[in-house]
Amino acid sequence: MKQLVHKLYARGELSKDELVYLLGHMDIETRKELYRFARMRREQAYGDKVYMRGLIEFSSYCRQNCLYCGLRAGNRAAERYRLSPREILECCREGYELGFRTFVLQSGEDPWYTTDLLATLIRDIKSEFPDAAITLSIGEREEGTYRLLFESGADRFLMRHETASRRLYQSLHPSMSFDHRRQCLETLLAIGYQVGAGFMVGLPGQTVEDLAEDMKYLKSLNPDMIGIGPFIPHDHTPLGDAKAGSLEDTLVMVALARLYLPHALIPATTALGSLNPEGREMALKVGANVVMPNLSPIFVRKKYALYNNKICTGDESAQCRHCLELRIGAAGFSVDMGRGDSLKAVGTRRHA
Ligand code: SAM
Ligand code: SF4
Repeated sequence: MKQLVHKLYARGELSKDELVYLLGHMDIETRKELYRFARMRREQAYGDKVYMRGLIEFSSYCRQNCLYCGLRAGNRAAERYRLSPREILECCREGYELGFRTFVLQSGEDPWYTTDLLATLIRDIKSEFPDAAITLSIGEREEGTYRLLFESGADRFLMRHETASRRLYQSLHPSMSFDHRRQCLETLLAIGYQVGAGFMVGLPGQTVEDLAEDMKYLKSLNPDMIGIGPFIPHDHTPLGDAKAGSLEDTLVMVALARLYLPHALIPATTALGSLNPEGREMALKVGANVVMPNLSPIFVRKKYALYNNKICTGDESAQCRHCLELRIGAAGFSVDMGRGDSLKAVGTRRHA
């Protein structure tokens, strides 16, 4: 089994059959070898640096109905909120003071934020903080909107493909289309965004073949960023009684992502930290190199509830930043507060 890990390290990919076999026979020794090689790749590409992104969860309204997500439109128990452009700018100011040079603006799919409103907001943030990068994570929109927001100054876009299995995707997204999601990712790349794709691990009904398909898809898409987190149930969703994805399975997929795409930025996700208190540190040790402390105002934190027991919903932004810095240092890494563009973007000199 270790030979397959060595082959992956040397070639940057395996055939789907080989990967399915590896995932199906992952004993402790193989896992250790995988983690060791993934860490080596990360060090070769990014050294011991961990990039910090300030996350602003600006709206919990969503018109979609993803079966797993606490923000789904059908969750009548959810408390909804929207931050005004002024409040979002205020979060950026606080974040900038704390040293952040990337702001990630994330929300449910909320058309209340029109293209014009978002474009103005992006221009305002950029004019006040020209040396900061703006990452959007607002879901599916028209190509014209993506284009205008890019021209207004947005640099990056996170939109997980969620699962590369058409069957599984369709069963989890009653209001969405598998092909359209992928089309959006292609469009974003073509426009010039640094793009983040990614998926959840441990979704009900997910097989090792599905996970192998996720790696194959990522290899062909070649995104700048890859978000991988465990599925965690939320009580007020149709999957409220389902089992969460496991820590080990998620770490394996993070390590594989590092070996498949050495130049990608890979966050140690909040979902991993919610599953296990040391989850994010473990992810950093097997190939992840980004963390996203929360900059949202305290009074909305608990309302952005994607899944049960989400961490860091009670801490001030400064506390979150400080806590993560200590954790990163203790895990043997160093914090980089710069923009932290992906090596792929730097290499191809896209949108500086
Ligand atoms: N609405 C946008 C979208 O879907 O792309 C951005 C916000 S959405 C809340 C961000 C990510 O949260 C999704 O891509 C999904 O992978 C993750 N997520 C949602 N529900 C989750 C759950 N129950 N467990 C783990 N991750 C979840
Ligand atoms: Fe909405 Fe995104 Fe949650 Fe789906 S994952 S329900 S699009 S917020």
